[in-house]
Parts: sequence; C-alpha cells; structure tokens
Amino acid sequence: MKKSVMSIAFLVANVMLLLSACSSESSLLPSTTSSLPTTNTTTSSTGTSGSSSTTTTTANAITTLEIFKKVYGATEVYIEGNYAIIKANGLPDHKSPYYKDTQWATAKYEAYNGTNTKFALNPNRIVSQSYVFKIPINPAKASNSSATPAGPIGISLNGVPFYNQYAAMNAPLTNEVNGFDQYKGHPQQQGQYHYHVEPTYLTDQKGKDALLGFLLDGFPVYGPLEKGKTITNSDLDGYHGHSHATTEYPNGIYHYHITDADPYINGNGFYGTAGTVSK
Ligand SMILES: [Zn+2]
Ligand SMILES: [Zn+2]
Repeated sequence: MKKSVMSIAFLVANVMLLLSACSSESSLLPSTTSSLPTTNTTTSSTGTSGSSSTTTTTANAITTLEIFKKVYGATEVYIEGNYAIIKANGLPDHKSPYYKDTQWATAKYEAYNGTNTKFALNPNRIVSQSYVFKIPINPAKASNSSATPAGPIGISLNGVPFYNQYAAMNAPLTNEVNGFDQYKGHPQQQGQYHYHVEPTYLTDQKGKDALLGFLLDGFPVYGPLEKGKTITNSDLDGYHGHSHATTEYPNGIYHYHITDADPYINGNGFYGTAGTVSK
C-alpha cells in the first residue's frame, strides 16, 4: 500500500501526492526515520520539503544529500522523491592488477603485491559500467526481509559496488578470495570490479571506523572498528548490523559493519526494503 502510493507519487511527480506520501510515510515508518537529518536540501522535486515539518533542523547535522555525496566516486548524486540516485562507472580509484591490458593500464595497472601466496589473476579485466543506484533516503526495517541478489548489493564511497558473501551459484568465497587483488577486490565476467570484503584502500584512506558506503536498502555500511574495538560477527545481528548513533547519524541509525569473517558485509539479506540498481 505504502509502496504503491510512493511509486505513484514518484511517477507523476505531483506535489500534492508527494506531500500526502510524506505524511502517510511518517506515520508508518518506525523511529529510524526521525534519525535521519532533515531532507530539506536541494532536490529535483519539491516533495521532500513536505517532510521538514516532521524533522527538526539541527545546525550541525549534515543533510541527506550530503551524506550520499560521501560516495565521492559517483559521477552524479541527487535526491529524487524518496530516493537518492547515485550514478557511477564502478572504476576503482586505486590501482589494480586487473587494469592490465585496459585503456587505463598506464596510470592504474599495478602488479599484485599483496600477501596471499595463492593469488591467481582471474581472466577478467576491469570495464567501465553505467550503474544507477536508487536508494531509499528514509530507510526502514522490512517486514519481510529479502535475500541479497547476486551482483551489486550496495555502493562503496569510491563508486565500486559491494557484493554479497557468495561466489556464483551461492558457493562460498573459498576459491574466489585467491583472485582478490591487493585492495581486496576483483572483476567478474562483465568486468564489474567489486568488493565482497573490507575495501582496504578505503579503510586506509578514511579509517577503519569510517562510513564506507550504503547497501541498497539505504542503511549505511561502516568499517570493522568502533570506538577502538574491532567488531566481530557476534556483535551483530543476523543481517550483520546493529543500531546506535554514528558520526553521520547523531540520532542513531541501523547500520552494517564489515568484519573479517564470513559473511563479511551482510548476513541474512537486507534489513530494510531494498531500492534498485540498474547496469
Ligand atoms: Zn566476486
Ligand atoms: Zn556500530
């Protein structure tokens, strides 16, 4: 019901419908909604201004648009109705042996220099993509959680997608890890470079406790460290997250943490209702 109201509002971009969707949404969504900073930002529609009456503007709180703009690798980030639209080409901004023989090789090829003695370069090479991630800006717990799909399940700050804890055919990553480069990513058959585990280039740059990206349900993904403590799977629920205040969400938010053991980023599917990604 709520979803159909939202999609109709989105499609016709009618201000009145958007306003009614916003007001019905605020009564339906759990308290996590109020944890988001105000969405009273520059948007492509006037709809979100309707929600400003339900949120309090905090001088220091960063806006929803600013949060999603932390995906610095995106080619475009904007708010459209109840979604953040994030476009990206998925090319890692760090070097990789998987840039070998590509048009970017001169600047970005780097032979494997990691520590895995079983490393074996897979036959795929990095290819530029045309991702469009459509991520809810008011993430909410799903009444029926859905499993994460094969392919992108979220986007990291540099525009490289997160994948789930499985190789093709839901096989564990046992063999696939030997294809991970020194930055812990690798490309699949269509050249989509991706991370199943901690993106170490990002945690080196931003810190192991930093915001690292978002899953498709709109909930943020943080690194393996929190308040000086390394998070393990036992600190997290079945979806691989928990709720409390973070730097970007001072009023508290459900968030995923990346750990060093399977399932690494996400457990039993999305905690919230997932948006979409097109390629
Ligand atoms: Zn993979
Ligand atoms: Zn946490």
